[in-house]
Amino acid sequence: MPSLMPNSTWRVLSWLAVLLLLAVGIGLIFHHVAMAIAIALGLYVVVNVRRLLRLDRWLRRRRSVDAPDYDGVWGDVVSIVSRIDRRKQFHKKRVVELLREFRRLTTAMPDGAVLLNQDNEIVWFNERAAQWLKLKRKRDIGIRIENLLRHPDFVEYVKQVLAGEGPETPPVVLMPGEMNQWISAFLVHTREAPQRLLIVRDMTLQVLLETMRKEFVANASHELRSPLTVISGYLDTLGDDEQLDPTWREPVNEMRRQADRMRGIVDDLLELSRLEGRHDLAGDEPVDVSGLLAVLCKDVLALAQHPNVTLKLDSTAKLKGAERELSSVFSNLINNAVKYTPAAGQIHIRWWTDTEGGHVSVQDTGIGIAEEHIPRLTERFYRVDAGRSRAMGGSGLGLAIVKHALQRHEAKLLITSQIGHGSTFSCHFPARRVLE
Ligand code: ADP
Repeated sequence: MPSLMPNSTWRVLSWLAVLLLLAVGIGLIFHHVAMAIAIALGLYVVVNVRRLLRLDRWLRRRRSVDAPDYDGVWGDVVSIVSRIDRRKQFHKKRVVELLREFRRLTTAMPDGAVLLNQDNEIVWFNERAAQWLKLKRKRDIGIRIENLLRHPDFVEYVKQVLAGEGPETPPVVLMPGEMNQWISAFLVHTREAPQRLLIVRDMTLQVLLETMRKEFVANASHELRSPLTVISGYLDTLGDDEQLDPTWREPVNEMRRQADRMRGIVDDLLELSRLEGRHDLAGDEPVDVSGLLAVLCKDVLALAQHPNVTLKLDSTAKLKGAERELSSVFSNLINNAVKYTPAAGQIHIRWWTDTEGGHVSVQDTGIGIAEEHIPRLTERFYRVDAGRSRAMGGSGLGLAIVKHALQRHEAKLLITSQIGHGSTFSCHFPARRVLE
């Protein structure tokens, strides 16, 4: 903004000087210099007070009153105020336009958007969010989002995101008040911004497709089981037949191995489908972990070729859970360790408890796993080396079963590994599941 002072001061002083000179001149003519100066100054004050009052009226009612047409200092003030005013109007218009555009865009968005303040209270939402979450402006502005989306998974997810340790994918939860409509709600939050944005997405189709996929796998596996049992039965009879033509012995044995493998895959698929279909927690039947691990170790030692196995039981505590599922978890981990560790290697199995809960670890000195594969190991059919896994009789489903069974026991699976040096798979059960 240009400075008013030097020019305007100069102009005011020049005016005053001219006025005073005129007053002195006229005073000298009429021999009343003091009175002439007083009248001149009085006139000067009256003119300026009038201008000030008009300026004040205009400043108060700029929209309806025309700007006063002044020259000199008052003209400068009017033009500066008008300029500031025009600039302010321009910015205001732009902000309003931007806001309108933002609203238009968020209304057209296929996702719901809910703006929350620091206390997770709703500040604003778009139409899609209103439709899915059944929000009403008058009723729900100012309500905490956890009071509307009360699903425990969502409440836990929000807590984790705000603590800075949130999972990358939000949980899929039922829409409030609906039986079969699913949404995911992704919370966008940064420490710098006081407000948070909740992106709500309709997941009904995905959940439906996932359910169909699970049902298809479960049905197909179920249907395959009976014919496979018949084929295996005939092959077993043929293989055990002393009079079998020797040229057929090897092919029949190979067919028996492959049929066994197929049965293993079908059984794993059925087990996985069963676990995926259950959303409840495992019961609290006391499971003797030490006994289970001892039996599984014995099975390994009975194999023709196996690495050296040590079992360290540091606790006699039991775990509250489902014995069949826990047995499947430990046997999958131990069998993997055997499969991926050469006969000269070592496998250490340990069971211990502490204040955090109960822990089982299976550590091997086998081939190890490269870091980039670790996060994906529990996906169904994910294998680091498909050829090797197949040759070992693996289905790629073992760790997916482990993950689901552990989830039902509120337990976590931790995997650490170094390629060429070995891997450690450890299961951590919460203290509430430990029975001392
Ligand atoms: P699979 O039946 O192929 O063993 P899993 O789901 O049990 O399927 O394991 C997935 C993949 O994880 C395996 O194919 C293998 O590449 C890797 N893996 C699992 N356990 C180990 C281990 N102890 N050492 C090295 N790699 C392992």
